[in-house]
Amino acid sequence: MVMTGKTRQNQSLIWVYPPNNWHANSNKTFVYGHAKPDSKLFVSSDEYLVPERIKIFPNGNFARSIKLPDLINNIKLIQITNGSKKILTRKIIINNRRIPGFKKSTSFKESKKDKIGSFKTPVIVIDPGHGGEEHGTHSPKGIPESHFNLQVAKLLLKELKKYTERVFITREKDKFLSLKERVLFAKKKKCDILISIHHNALPDSEDPLKHSGIGIYYTNNFVKPVGSCLLKAISRESNIRSYGIFKRNFALTRPAFCYAVLIECGFLIHPLESEYITRTETQKKIVSGIIKGLKASKLLR
Ligand SMILES: [Zn+2]
Repeated sequence: MVMTGKTRQNQSLIWVYPPNNWHANSNKTFVYGHAKPDSKLFVSSDEYLVPERIKIFPNGNFARSIKLPDLINNIKLIQITNGSKKILTRKIIINNRRIPGFKKSTSFKESKKDKIGSFKTPVIVIDPGHGGEEHGTHSPKGIPESHFNLQVAKLLLKELKKYTERVFITREKDKFLSLKERVLFAKKKKCDILISIHHNALPDSEDPLKHSGIGIYYTNNFVKPVGSCLLKAISRESNIRSYGIFKRNFALTRPAFCYAVLIECGFLIHPLESEYITRTETQKKIVSGIIKGLKASKLLR
C-alpha cells in the first residue's frame, strides 16, 4: 500500500494511495504522501494529457483529490528534483459498489444509564485500533495508523495507572486482534469504560484538506454526555479543532455493558494535521485531555 521512489537510498517520494487498498469507491478520489518540500510534484492519469501541479506543504506532505473518468485508470505521480524525473505509476480499480449505509437502530440496551458516578474505581479498558497486518490508514509518510494508536494508548495507560490499578490494554504490541476478541477482552475484565484509540481517514472520494480535528464516536445514547466531555477537554488541551461527536454502530462502541467511546485523534491523512498530531508532546496533550474529560463526566476521580 506504500510506494516509494525508484532510488532506494534516497526515499524522497512516498506515495500512499488509497488509505486502505488500491480500489477506489468512486471516480473521485485522492492521492497523498510525502516528498521533498522543495521538489516539484505533478499528478497525471491516462486521461490527462497535461500533468497537474500538486502543492507540497513546507513539511513535505501533500494531498490532492482527483477525478478518475473510467473504470480502470493508471495514475502517475511525477516528481521533478534538480531537473531529474521520478515517476510512480499505479493502477486504480474503481468499485462502483456503494458503501453499505449505517442502519439506525433503537434497540440498544441502556444498562449503564444511571450509573454515572456510582462506581468509585472504574475498570478501564484501552483498545489501540488495528495492529499486525491490519494497518488502518497511513500517514503521508506511509506509517500505519496502528503504530500511532498504540503510542497514544500506551501514554494513556501510563497516566490512568495513577488513578486506578484496574486499567487494561487489549494489545501492547503490533499484533492483529479481531474486533470480537477486543470486545470479549473488555467483557472478561468487567469493563466500565472502554476507550478505543484511532486516527481518522476519509472515504476515497473526500478531499483530505477539508476535514480535520478530534472526532468522538459512540453508539448508546447514555454515552453521549461522556463523549461531549471528552471532545471538549481533548480539543482544549491539545489545541486541535473539534471535528464532532457522532453516533455510529461500531463493534467497539456497541457494547452496552460499559461506557464505550471511540476517539479519532485527528486526521492522519491531513497533510498539516498529521505532522502535529503524531508528535509525542501532542499525544501527551491528547491523553491529558482524555483524563480531564473523564473527570468532567464524573467517571474518574
Ligand atoms: Zn482506525
